[in-house]
Amino acid sequence: MKKIAIIGGGISGLSALHSIRTGPLADCDVRLYEKSDRLGGTIGTDRELGFVSDWGPNGFLDKIPLTLQLVEQLGLTDQLDPADPSAENRFIYRNKKLHAISASPLKFLASPLLSLKGRLRLIVEPLIKAKTDDSDESIYDFARRRIGPEAADTLIGPMVSGIFGGDARELSLKSCFPVMVEMESQYGSLFKAMIAKKKAKKGGGPAGPSGRLTSFKNGLYTLIERFGELYAQNIETGKATTTITKTDTGYRITFADGSTADADAVICAAPAFAAGEMVGSLDSSLSDLLNSIPYASISVVCLGYPCDKISHPLGGFGFLVPRTEGKRILGSIWTSAIFGGRSPDGMVQVRAMIGGATDPGAVNLSDGELLDIIFAELDEIIGTTGRPSYVKIYRYTEGIPQFVIGHSKKIARLNEFEHTYPGLFFAGNAYEGVGLNDCVLRANSVVTRLADMRG
Ligand SMILES: Cc1cc2nc3c(=O)[nH]c(=O)nc-3n(C[C@H](O)[C@H](O)[C@H](O)COP(=O)(O)OP(=O)(O)OC[C@H]3O[C@@H](n4cnc5c(N)ncnc54)[C@H](O)[C@@H]3O)c2cc1C
Repeated sequence: MKKIAIIGGGISGLSALHSIRTGPLADCDVRLYEKSDRLGGTIGTDRELGFVSDWGPNGFLDKIPLTLQLVEQLGLTDQLDPADPSAENRFIYRNKKLHAISASPLKFLASPLLSLKGRLRLIVEPLIKAKTDDSDESIYDFARRRIGPEAADTLIGPMVSGIFGGDARELSLKSCFPVMVEMESQYGSLFKAMIAKKKAKKGGGPAGPSGRLTSFKNGLYTLIERFGELYAQNIETGKATTTITKTDTGYRITFADGSTADADAVICAAPAFAAGEMVGSLDSSLSDLLNSIPYASISVVCLGYPCDKISHPLGGFGFLVPRTEGKRILGSIWTSAIFGGRSPDGMVQVRAMIGGATDPGAVNLSDGELLDIIFAELDEIIGTTGRPSYVKIYRYTEGIPQFVIGHSKKIARLNEFEHTYPGLFFAGNAYEGVGLNDCVLRANSVVTRLADMRG
């Protein structure tokens, strides 16, 4: 194996490139082809008027050593910016009020976030029999079964829209939160599992994945810029792949400009729907499989306000809104409370998310319509007055892949295609996890499998 092609220059393709250049395949001739004129995919940062605004993701959890190791190898450790400890404070908007979610079980139970009936149902969780079969279950059905419908709607639904832009009723627990399946099967109860894990100091639980949100001092795009500087000679931007076909010895990539490139192995790190199109003439069942992974649209709106124009204190991560509250905003992240240097003196930056699988039409709202909704809802929820002096809107039509019921079967079939087409791999957020850590892990494991093939 001499020539490797990578398609897609988001975090997945770039981490695969890095793994190849720094691992056992370092002697190979590797080229990365990116459709757009810029690298990064969903990752981007605007730095304007003293504001630093991330387009999509705004950080990664510092719990995966591989990502931190990658940052170190890129020479960026001193640029890391861990979230302020106050970001532990998170809020849920319910019954026209923001409620702090307390990490202390007693304080949580004393809070009026859930009705008395909802709280009583929650505390009997350890008495609910564990599911014994391994059928795929939606996140919502699991939560409803274990902690009751009110807690499922108020706590779990918003968490799912916050992480996946997803609908808890559609997404697979097994594929999105495998740790919860393990907690139930191993301990018979989430509470018992949390207590056991706390004792073992492992962290984690139904409140969300553990780890501290971490970014870079000048925004997340710092990571992409560094990849671009280090590997400029291996990267071609403005190079859209149209097809991947088989040759006698490997694969041929055809580009939109009519040119071609042959490679012994291909890592396709473009979104699943784009990968599905590329392999249409190679194998229609592989193409159908990739195309069967749905995506949710989502929009992010970053806003800069003078400090005195928001009445709710912004000490915390931000808030999420259960769909039952009748608002369109999914939630808001208080960017300048989490990371330093994100807004000029005297100003704060907040970002609002809208859309996702439960509101697919939101991505088509005009700027004016979108802002009218967001301003009105922020006025009500955090007491904004007047209009922000800084506004940035980022829309993702096919934003976040949705691991719906049956997703794990799709991934098992995709793995079988690795045997049918040796040397053709799929990296990216559509398969094993949507977070930046998941992308880095999958890119690394694909490169390891490629290296193993060579022996
Ligand atoms: C709004 C939003 C907020 C998020 N927040 C977080 C967060 O806070 N933390 C977190 O961990 N994750 C977050 N995520 C998820 C995370 O951003 C993504 O999962 C991750 O960036 C995906 O990286 P990727 O490289 O797999 O795909 P992408 O970033 O989609 O990159 C794929 C690349 O392939 C290119 N491409 C497409 N078609 C072709 C073609 N035909 N030829 C060549 N190239 C092609 C694209 O141009 C793109 O550059 C968020 C996602 C969104 C949308």
